[in-house]
Amino acid sequence: MTTALEAFRRDVRAWLEKAAPKGLRGHGSDPDAQIWGGKKERRSPDQEAWLRAAVERGFTAPTWPKEFGGGGLGKEEGALVTSEIRRLDLPAPLTGFGLSMIGPTLLQYGTEQQKRDHLPKIIRGEIRWCQGYSEPNAGSDLASLQCSAADEGDHFLVNGQKTWTSYGDKADWMFLLVRTDPAAKKQQGITFILLDLDTPGVTIRPIRLISGASPFCETFLENVRISKQNVVTDINHGWTVAKALLGHEREMIAAVFGSGRNAARADSVVSVAKRHLGDTGRLSDPVLRDRLAQVLMDEKCFELTVQRTADGARAGRRPGPESSLFKVYGTELNQRRHELLCSLRGPESLGWEGEGFSEDALQQTRDWLRSRGNTIEGGTSEIQLNIIAKRVLGLPD
Ligand SMILES: Cc1cc2nc3c(=O)[nH]c(=O)nc-3n(C[C@H](O)[C@H](O)[C@H](O)COP(=O)(O)OP(=O)(O)OC[C@H]3O[C@@H](n4cnc5c(N)ncnc54)[C@H](O)[C@@H]3O)c2cc1C
Repeated sequence: MTTALEAFRRDVRAWLEKAAPKGLRGHGSDPDAQIWGGKKERRSPDQEAWLRAAVERGFTAPTWPKEFGGGGLGKEEGALVTSEIRRLDLPAPLTGFGLSMIGPTLLQYGTEQQKRDHLPKIIRGEIRWCQGYSEPNAGSDLASLQCSAADEGDHFLVNGQKTWTSYGDKADWMFLLVRTDPAAKKQQGITFILLDLDTPGVTIRPIRLISGASPFCETFLENVRISKQNVVTDINHGWTVAKALLGHEREMIAAVFGSGRNAARADSVVSVAKRHLGDTGRLSDPVLRDRLAQVLMDEKCFELTVQRTADGARAGRRPGPESSLFKVYGTELNQRRHELLCSLRGPESLGWEGEGFSEDALQQTRDWLRSRGNTIEGGTSEIQLNIIAKRVLGLPD
């Protein structure tokens, strides 16, 4: 590390000592501690203080340009801010699709006006975004989407249905794909557009998942007016933007599972193992001991590989098809980890609700069920394998 970077690290550490609320330390992976932003979020005083302090320093988006409220830092300094936040096991000061998906996409494809309108609000946590890609008959084959946008001069009139809209009921804006030319070849008649969810004609209904939670919704659009100023890139050329955003999405999903929070996760698996198999210096069950060692080693290797790619990305590279490799591996590894946790707990992991089970065990069961969706969201594993075969390995169709 250069002297300048070392000095920067000391500065960030000193700032964190003052700015990061003590009550959030040690809660880096706690779902209730995460800050998503948006008009509908109720934040604790600690969360509010942490978000405000980070916004002031530009640390909610450390590498985004200063003119929009970002930190204006280089990739190395940005990574250092993230790693210092993790060192204290703090939640990120802000998370969500604004920072991880639509923000980077607007930086690449947005007009100056779109950047000025949306990026500062994302950085300050004022607006929460959701993704309107999937439809009842367009998931893996996304390009066959049917949500129609009729040209009405200065605006489009949008009609159709989106589904699996994660956090749609908690979001303020949606980025979505609409069909603007039904006669064109399917990838060519699609437009990428931004929608304020308060616009008349939008109805959002939560869908209950197998895990019991309702993190996603169906979205109905009936005669919804969207100004043409909200089109990102040209009309009928949204497919390129859509694919670029999917690259950011896969990186985000992979990063969640290779995030450097593995030490805390490893501790939690090991402590569950000790509690259930007995702590006599060596776990008594040799098969589970092997599975545990394998998962922990694979998590460490994955974390290092993600880190190595992040180091490579400091040269300014955008996510390419290799993000599919991480998406497949990271999500399948997470499922293996949850299956291992269930095996370690034995019958305790059968609990869904009721007094016979601890809170901890019930949460584990629901987390395991939630992990089933990891290999579907953001494009299924089968689709990622197709992308890897064609675009990474160059295999014939
Ligand atoms: C937790 C979760 C959150 C989500 N959040 C969002 C969101 O916020 N916004 C959004 O727009 N969407 C979201 N989705 C939707 C997600 O992107 C789709 O579910 C996914 O793309 C698969 O589409 P599908 O469900 O229609 O399945 P289908 O496309 O019908 O696929 C069914 C099965 O067929 C396989 N298959 C399909 N085509 C092929 C092929 N060519 N080759 C090999 N196998 C194939 C698939 O792998 C899958 O196993 C979310 C999904 C989940 C589970």
